[in-house]
Amino acid sequence: MGTEIGKVLLETDEPPGGSLEWSDWRWQLRNTVSDIDKLAKLFLLNAAESEDLKRITAKYPFTITPYYLSLMDKDDPQDPIRLQCLPSQEEEKLYFGVQDDPLDEEADSVLPGLVHRYPDRVLVTLTNMCPVYCRHCTRKRDWCGSRWARKPQELASIYQYISQHKEVRDVILSGGDPLILSNERIEAVLKSLRDIPHVEIIRIGTRCPVVLPQRIDDGLVSVLRKYRPIWVNTHFNHPREITKESSMACDRMVSSGIPVNNQSVLLKGVNDSTETMTKLCQGLLRISVRPYYLFQCDPVSGTGHLRTSIEKGLEIIKGMRGFTSGLAVPNFVVDGMEGHGKVPLQPDYLVALEKDHALLRSYKGEVFRYYNPE
Ligand SMILES: *Cc1c(COP(=O)(O)O)cnc(C)c1O
Ligand code: SF4
Repeated sequence: MGTEIGKVLLETDEPPGGSLEWSDWRWQLRNTVSDIDKLAKLFLLNAAESEDLKRITAKYPFTITPYYLSLMDKDDPQDPIRLQCLPSQEEEKLYFGVQDDPLDEEADSVLPGLVHRYPDRVLVTLTNMCPVYCRHCTRKRDWCGSRWARKPQELASIYQYISQHKEVRDVILSGGDPLILSNERIEAVLKSLRDIPHVEIIRIGTRCPVVLPQRIDDGLVSVLRKYRPIWVNTHFNHPREITKESSMACDRMVSSGIPVNNQSVLLKGVNDSTETMTKLCQGLLRISVRPYYLFQCDPVSGTGHLRTSIEKGLEIIKGMRGFTSGLAVPNFVVDGMEGHGKVPLQPDYLVALEKDHALLRSYKGEVFRYYNPE
């Protein structure tokens, strides 16, 4: 797999230098596709299409690893991998109610790179770089301009804030993708956080297992495991992303004592059916990854074409709960605008609640009485 694409990427008739290079994450990063001319060759875009995409990607750049490209069916314009990573004319369309920063992360930032929205946990953005720029990304506004990683002074202020706020027991490293940084940088951050006694857990939000699984190698895992408890949240959206490589990436972490949870985004044409979501979540359990959240896609500029209704999310959860392992059913959440935070949504199983009894609806739809004790 990947040879054909590798050939075009390197613009040579030679296949990429064998499986050794393919499985080296540095090779994958050196050979990402991030300009339209390369894309035009791969997907046979005509001049007008290329011009359109050049304009769009000046606003919302793109980058795709050869590995992630290789999962795509190039001949299918509706391919679920393609919809997630290939820039599209749709991104220019205007939709009602979308904004650059609907969650008001800038306003909730107590320092550059530190969001303190909930009582006991904070989110740190370490970089704006990602191996693949997902077209549905909530932080699309951060892609333009230069690529950055937090500077030492910024990090020092972040550590100081966390040290002074004893209520912070959970630190979420996010981005961008924090695992795009070098092992040395990652270790420096983990070490500094572990030096703060009240920080109980560290979470890492990363899409590397899905789009650059080669990154989760023994070297990285041996760094991470030193600073446990570490919880990794990753981002699979479609069953076809569960491959030998991504399974091995997750297994390396899980078997080293680093639990991996998944946060999917509900995306039109990608995973917006009970069947696809069930397949995805059952597949995740088979590789020891726990489905944690299913996010309603945020109302972010440039993502409107991928959004679905809230009813769709509820219908999917209703079609899963009871019909498959409870472990496979994620929490469906809407992230509230303007910093209201995540709101969990459930299909209605509570028909009525009286002082002495409740009327409940079973997963099969039968309504029954349940005695309600004092
Ligand atoms: C999602 C999020 C968290 C973590 O929320 P959990 O429900 O604990 O997973 C923390 N801070 C911010 C700003 C978030 O958006
Ligand atoms: S990996 Fe995450 S932060 Fe990066 S582009 Fe995708 S959704 Fe956005």
